Amino acid sequence: MQPVIAIVGAGIGGLTTALAFARQGVVVNIFEQSEQLREVGAGIQLSPNATAILGDLGLTDALAEHWHEPDGISLMSGASLRTLTSIPLGSIARQRWHSPYAVIHRPDLLQTLSAALSNHADCNLFFNTSVPAVPEEQTCDALQAISGNRPDLIVFADGVWSRKRDSLPGSSPATFSGHVAWRTTTTNTELPELFPQGYIGTFLGPACHLVCYPLGNSGAVNLIAATPGDPSRKQWDETGDLNVLIDHFKRWNPKIVDALNNASWRVWPLYEARNSAWQDGSRTVLIGDAAHAMSPHAAQGAAMAIEDGVELAYCFSRSNGDTANAISNYVATRQPRVDRVRRRGDLNKFAYHARGPIRIARDLTFKLRGAQHLAADMDWLYGYRAGEG
Ligand SMILES: Cc1cc2nc3c(=O)[nH]c(=O)nc-3n(C[C@H](O)[C@H](O)[C@H](O)COP(=O)(O)OP(=O)(O)OC[C@H]3O[C@@H](n4cnc5c(N)ncnc54)[C@H](O)[C@@H]3O)c2cc1C
Repeated sequence: MQPVIAIVGAGIGGLTTALAFARQGVVVNIFEQSEQLREVGAGIQLSPNATAILGDLGLTDALAEHWHEPDGISLMSGASLRTLTSIPLGSIARQRWHSPYAVIHRPDLLQTLSAALSNHADCNLFFNTSVPAVPEEQTCDALQAISGNRPDLIVFADGVWSRKRDSLPGSSPATFSGHVAWRTTTTNTELPELFPQGYIGTFLGPACHLVCYPLGNSGAVNLIAATPGDPSRKQWDETGDLNVLIDHFKRWNPKIVDALNNASWRVWPLYEARNSAWQDGSRTVLIGDAAHAMSPHAAQGAAMAIEDGVELAYCFSRSNGDTANAISNYVATRQPRVDRVRRRGDLNKFAYHARGPIRIARDLTFKLRGAQHLAADMDWLYGYRAGEG
């Protein structure tokens, strides 16, 4: 009999997990609360540890139609516009980490994943289906009633607001990181002229930073600003108050302030799930933001969800039907990796937003270390291959 896996949530994590299991000949049922696939209309960076997996899943050609490979990341002072340092990407990323570093419009990524799934006969996507956070046997009953299959493994990939995570003993609700992200995609900006062509520009300043990258040849530019903010509005995707944004950047270079003024922004409070339980019963496991939502300062949240999916499929394939053992091995492999990546994001946040003597030390470190050292610093992160034992 074919094993059956149920996946709750059709985000980047849920769909990648589905593909990783589908290629093993497993029956995959995905349950999504929305009526269709939904991603915000913003860009996302995909580092080589993630693109290598997407490549193994046979998606490189389809994704290459949409993604763009930046030549590097330029870290700049938001006040003086001086380049502090650069990390080389482009062909160097392919050589060093054996897979591209890419940026892509999120809906294109989601559509590519779902198109690949439609090629698998044993893969079913149930929309308008909100899965409740109830004990495991009840969940199995509910999912069997909808799909006709009783799952051997249930994967909650239901995102940062996972009700399943909140229901588990030892887990607490997601906590506010102190920062909000402002996002826009615009054709009306001259910001890319402030950093080397083809690069990702990251402008640093006290308590805030701004990331800017063109989305391929479309002419659209993706902008993300991180600022301190208000935790009270838990909704994603709210219209942002331009006056509030500008107030955070008022001491920055006027060219940046002008660019911020020229766009209309949407704002997300950044919540994190730290020290959560990742499993329940003998066949339920959490992945992606549901298990370990992290702030986006290392641009790794989706990459971790992608790594989770293939690692889980790998552990399951080697478990001889012992799902509890597969989950234990999965958690033992993934937790140290995710913790290390989270610490990297925390370090980036500290360094990006530094002021006073810490900022001076940061700038000196950037200068002394040089681009090659900074690239070497990323080997453990970008050179990692999940799901390879
Ligand atoms: C500003 C910002 C910038 C970022 N930049 C990057 C980046 O450059 N690179 C990177 O790797 N990461 C980045 N991230 C992180 C990345 O976006 C997330 O980590 C990733 O999207 C999480 O994917 P997921 O599949 O775990 O969850 P989600 O994408 O949140 O998907 C969860 C899905 O579950 C569904 N769902 C929820 N509850 C239920 C239920 N009860 N029943 C059924 N369905 C349900 C939801 O509708 C949704 O479709 C960024 C995040 C932010 C906020």
